[in-house]
Amino acid sequence: MTLQIPFDNSYARLPEGFFARLGPTPVKAPQTVAFNHDLAELLGITGAEDPALAAQFGGNAVPEGAEPLAQLYAGHQFGQFNPQLGDGRALLLGEVVGTDGIRRDIQLKGSGPTPFSRRGDGRAWLGPVLREYVVSEAMHALGVPTTRALAAIRTGEEVIRERPLPGAVLTRVAQSHIRVGTFQVFAARQDNDRLQTLYDYTVDRHYPDARDPLDLLNGVIERQAQLVTQWMGVGFIHGVMNTDNCALSGETIDYGPCAFMDAYDPDTVFSSIDRFGRYGYAAQADIIVWNMAQLATALVPLMPDTDKAVEDFTKAVHAMPDRLRALWLERFGAKIGLSTPTQEDLSLIGDLLTLMHEGSADFTNTFRALADGDARDQFTDRAGFDAWEARWQARLEQEETPQALMRAVNPVLIPRNHRVEQMIEAAVAGDDAPFHRLNAALSAPFDLNESYADLRRPPSSGEKVRATFCG
Ligand code: AMP
Ligand code: MG
Ligand code: MG
Repeated sequence: MTLQIPFDNSYARLPEGFFARLGPTPVKAPQTVAFNHDLAELLGITGAEDPALAAQFGGNAVPEGAEPLAQLYAGHQFGQFNPQLGDGRALLLGEVVGTDGIRRDIQLKGSGPTPFSRRGDGRAWLGPVLREYVVSEAMHALGVPTTRALAAIRTGEEVIRERPLPGAVLTRVAQSHIRVGTFQVFAARQDNDRLQTLYDYTVDRHYPDARDPLDLLNGVIERQAQLVTQWMGVGFIHGVMNTDNCALSGETIDYGPCAFMDAYDPDTVFSSIDRFGRYGYAAQADIIVWNMAQLATALVPLMPDTDKAVEDFTKAVHAMPDRLRALWLERFGAKIGLSTPTQEDLSLIGDLLTLMHEGSADFTNTFRALADGDARDQFTDRAGFDAWEARWQARLEQEETPQALMRAVNPVLIPRNHRVEQMIEAAVAGDDAPFHRLNAALSAPFDLNESYADLRRPPSSGEKVRATFCG
């Protein structure tokens, strides 16, 4: 049986200047760690069996119909504009149209150097590859828009980081890899032809109803507002919300030093490179507005009347915080069982979060316990919780099915950071069982399954992971 991927490429049809064409760099001994058969089926991929599977998704053979290329983009990294980034260790193999009619990119990450590698080695090590595999698939199961993981392949080579580590290649799938930074690169170069081409391509692929750049901007703002609110609802911290890691499709993309919060603290930061907390948990709602302002700026040259464009785009960006607050109220209202929360409910939600913060209550377990009726144990200030609960119960009298609502949005399981780190440590030592178990557990994160009780437990002080690193 031969491995077949029904490629139908469109980005490769764009004119010169959007990418560099090149193939992956072969690796020593590709070995399959994981392959996502359900996702492969959605994509129409058949015959994915070793050794072809490991060879093609490890970079030793280019699948038939693929037209590998490294995409060009720019981006603001921690607020500093870098006029040229691009895929330094990734390659777009091509696109497929899934059985659901949706076009998706298939991309290798860690596949060797490209013209955009700068000083990097073009490789990834096993840790971040498995982290992205587990976390992106968990996000999907949690209902959060995200890129997905198709394959993880050990390369049989070492990658030098702080120490030699096993190398790996991730195959990921996205509705596209068009970033805010993809618009920025052409805007910064005052290359209006390519900016227009990219705009037309993006509208066609993601926002077919948009009639002008303002519509596109508003469409992206809405999807990003939804996305970041969903992140906050599950305690997710992306970690590197640079404009090159912000997708026009509205999917979570470029998982690096990301992590889920255990104890609730709005200032939580995990990423070792985020020294000032620019991308901390609560800051995400401000930063996404800043990122949308960068997109707006990059779209201005597409408008015939610059002054009018600046005025309209500014209005659109300035409306985003209110939209974020409305979505936040909706989501956090649902998390305490309110089907149509209003401004009057803000203090009820806020007071709960204050109690949680003061008592370092576990974010995931506390909200789930509210649904299951045993939240009191999550609080150190029991009297404070009792007083809050009385107000909450009074408010719930206006609700028909608060339990069901809460259970639908408050997961039992998240990929807790210490479990992810333990899984990586085991895989580096050659034991992939924790990886497979974590994946299996997180495929149904809203289900109460006693065999995964250990994965619900917050980290002990010895298990706590204080910093996460890029790969
Ligand atoms: P990130 O913030 O990790 O998404 O990456 C920022 C930029 O650095 C992108 O252009 C990446 O392609 C590039 N990059 C990250 N790691 C490497 C690496 N090991 N080799 C080459 N380029 C890299
Ligand atoms: Mg990136
Ligand atoms: Mg604090």
